[in-house]
Amino acid sequence: LDKSLFVPNGLDLTPNARTVLERRYLRKDTEGRLLERPLQMFERVARHIADAERNYDPRANVQATAETFLKLMTDLVFLPNSPTLMNAGRRLGQLAACFVLPVEDSMDAIFETLKNAAIIHKSGGGTGFSFSRLRPKNAMVGTTGGVASGPVSFMKIFNTATEQVKQGGTRRGANMAVLRVDHPDILEFIFCKQNNGDLNNFNISVGVTDAFMAAAARGEMYDLIDPATGTRTATLNATEVYNALVRQAWKNGDPGILFLDRINRDNPTPALGEVESTNPCGEQPLLPMEACNLGSINLARCVTVTAEKATVDYDKLGRIVHDAVHFLDNTIDMSRYPLAEIDAMVKGNRKVGLGVMGFADLLFKLGIPYNSEAALETAAAVMSFIQTEAVAASRALASQRGPFANHHRSIYADMEQPAQRNATLTTIAPTGTLSIIANCSSGIEPLFALSFVRNVMDDDRLLEVNPVFEAVARQRGFYSRELMETIARRGSIQHVEGIPDDVKQVFVTAHDISPEWHVRMQAAFQKFTDNAVSKTVNLPREATVEEVRSIYDLAYQLGCKGVTIYRDGSKEHQVLSTGATA
Ligand code: ADP
Repeated sequence: LDKSLFVPNGLDLTPNARTVLERRYLRKDTEGRLLERPLQMFERVARHIADAERNYDPRANVQATAETFLKLMTDLVFLPNSPTLMNAGRRLGQLAACFVLPVEDSMDAIFETLKNAAIIHKSGGGTGFSFSRLRPKNAMVGTTGGVASGPVSFMKIFNTATEQVKQGGTRRGANMAVLRVDHPDILEFIFCKQNNGDLNNFNISVGVTDAFMAAAARGEMYDLIDPATGTRTATLNATEVYNALVRQAWKNGDPGILFLDRINRDNPTPALGEVESTNPCGEQPLLPMEACNLGSINLARCVTVTAEKATVDYDKLGRIVHDAVHFLDNTIDMSRYPLAEIDAMVKGNRKVGLGVMGFADLLFKLGIPYNSEAALETAAAVMSFIQTEAVAASRALASQRGPFANHHRSIYADMEQPAQRNATLTTIAPTGTLSIIANCSSGIEPLFALSFVRNVMDDDRLLEVNPVFEAVARQRGFYSRELMETIARRGSIQHVEGIPDDVKQVFVTAHDISPEWHVRMQAAFQKFTDNAVSKTVNLPREATVEEVRSIYDLAYQLGCKGVTIYRDGSKEHQVLSTGATA
């Protein structure tokens, strides 16, 4: 494998993308001098991931596979999650973005998990935890006769540890904390982030059940249960608790909500345990000790444009899906997981999370407004195609490599269809950094602004115009630097003069889109996604608490697995702001 790899189209990176790569992704020596260029990074990744071929066929054409993988990345049509770009073929070798760790109710177990989380953060991975098994605050501690401090106080320790592990050359850690709504400390949890800056390395979500949602709809009482003893400690009014969490989310975005029964209906391996938590951004429900590699297809580059019209290029998309599933399956073998238990779980289930980015750009190119039925139909068509092709790719891999080891204990065991190699295939990630590298809109989110001043990492400021909008503005003859600066100040073009109405209709941004459309879009993708969908429902500053509640209700009714809202101006800092600063 000494031959250099064939690069078909060169590498078309924006200055922003180069900056991001140089700061965090490229190899450096101890003095901080770069040891590779972006192309060499992609080569390093492609070769390393292709090496997995040898596990299955000693005579495999590893070079050809490496070239296929390299082309996926250098064409910017598919990128694996950040830890793969950062760590593949390097000493650390940890390639997954998402982990869920168990938090058992003992000092030993809690601090063991804390240590493991720190190790994962060092590698650029994010960790999710359910704190629901911890005995509540003020419960008796058998061995000392003292009282327990409860989930929230342990979360503070995790938060501090995260703060201190400034990741070795990568990024600061991110965490998710989940607490079940029937935990006795649920009210303390709901309010634990009420001061901006508290638990700033955590996203928090209340885990609710169908029974709770029904009780909340009817104003019924429900029981709080001490998880250590199984006894009832109190009874609360479900509507009041629901309103409290909604009001708190309205105030500053936290907590989000996870619909645990909905999530567990899609658990492919219930015999191995119940899903209690997700990774930090909510898109990846996992069993304790599971990890998952994500990868995202850039839909902005899957369009055929002719003089008459633009259409989704399904032939190209199909080929990308097959290569991407192959890539992600190989990644499982090539990743070095920080714990033997994680290694066993990951290799047992072989979950991967293929998703998309550049969806808003795709809609721009197709001339479809994000807030329209046509956009929902496009979402369903594209994602159902990806899901179907991903399953086909996974079956093809299974026929060569065998199904995932726990297949006989999974929900697929009794099915007629050919076995899959992977317990799950699809996930919609936020793509905070990947979308900067690929120069496309992030995940399935609408754009925040068509032109804006970007703070790259710490201090650089650049005026950036969405490339699709810029092309249309030039073509239609209304492009000017002043206009782009005006748009950057306003955020939206809806009330800017000098822009044709049909352009205004298509080029909508996050705040032009009502919250209902955000939720409906999330639901449209969820319908064809094995895991979950990262989506923030944006609300204007003046939105009411009732509007937030109806968003939560709608997300539940439409089969979303969770929901996260953000009301404009309600929070100073987010765990993950636009990728570059994360
Ligand atoms: P990227 O674009 O860098 O690949 P995403 O924004 O798609 O990452 O996030 C995917 C997942 O990666 C998150 O849900 C989380 O699990 C993990 N992640 C993202 N940012 C961080 C971070 N700063 N520290 C740790 N994990 C992170």
